[in-house]
Amino acid sequence: MTTNQPLIGMPMQQPYNGRPEMLVGAAYCRAIEAAGGVPLPIPLSDAPWVMDRCYGMIDGLFLCGGGDIAAHFYGAVDSGALTAIDEPRDRLELALTRRALQDGLPIYGICRGVQTLNVAAGGTLYQDIPTDFPEALDHRASTGQPLGHVAHAARVEPGSLLEDMLGVGDSSVQVNSFHHQAVRDVAPGFRVNAWSPDGVVEGIEPRDGDVHVLGVQWHPERMVPQREDMVRLFTRFVDACRAR
Ligand code: MN
Repeated sequence: MTTNQPLIGMPMQQPYNGRPEMLVGAAYCRAIEAAGGVPLPIPLSDAPWVMDRCYGMIDGLFLCGGGDIAAHFYGAVDSGALTAIDEPRDRLELALTRRALQDGLPIYGICRGVQTLNVAAGGTLYQDIPTDFPEALDHRASTGQPLGHVAHAARVEPGSLLEDMLGVGDSSVQVNSFHHQAVRDVAPGFRVNAWSPDGVVEGIEPRDGDVHVLGVQWHPERMVPQREDMVRLFTRFVDACRAR
């Protein structure tokens, strides 16, 4: 047995049906496993010792997709368009993300996860793309579609960590899209690393690229293993966690 498989902390969530349960998405776990990591679900808890003990064990933090972050966490008033708010999850994820940013722990956020990363670092969100950008593309176009569905292109910023990982020669990738919110004000110290053709932010990362921190608005875990570029988003993250 080797012991160099890094532990990847994955905060859990409450189910949308309100049952008293906690869950974590299986596709994220499978993608982390395939990249050589060990997914470690972190239970929702306001007991500081639970979060502290879990945080002390992990080599990296993974932020899954899900419902909307409560607007007050980024200084806004709920416009009425928010859905599936899970404040215990918001509190846990924001606290863990801030600690990870402070400590230089690798972070990888998907969909809601890029929004969590942005809010944790001091950024804000658009609460509803169809309301805020009536002319935007349908960013929920992949909902209900088969695995591998492509909704729109994403233009990847030259010189970004994301570009390095995707290995895009023409600086554009085809992505799926399941979101109705998006990054608004990018957090201080962060940069946009990918844009959709209508100008919606599709990913962020720190300007100072010393630590592996990345968020993307699409769902790469639904595009693996067929898409080798999306596989690398997981392997490079797990490698960074292992190397730490
Ligand atoms: Mn999109």
